[in-house]
Amino acid sequence: MKFPKKIRTHCPKCNAHTEHKVQKESSGQARSNSWGQRQFKRVKAGYGGQPRPKQKGGPKVSDKAVIVLECTECGKKQVRTGPRTTKLQIGE
Ligand SMILES: [Zn+2]
Repeated sequence: MKFPKKIRTHCPKCNAHTEHKVQKESSGQARSNSWGQRQFKRVKAGYGGQPRPKQKGGPKVSDKAVIVLECTECGKKQVRTGPRTTKLQIGE
């Protein structure tokens, strides 16, 4: 899906509708290291790894894209969920 480079939307800092630059959120790794996650890592380590079957494919094929909006007037960035697509193209 094509998505415009600039959109006019609400900026919470300016408290008004302003032009925003659109960027894709870079997909980083989840940094969760909660007790459950640590325990799961311990269980998975060593011989006989996977404790229970991996969950495979849900009913939905596409993901909601995450986009970063940057206000051109004050420079405030905000993260938002974008449209539900398999592939997001920004520009044009
Ligand atoms: Zn602003």
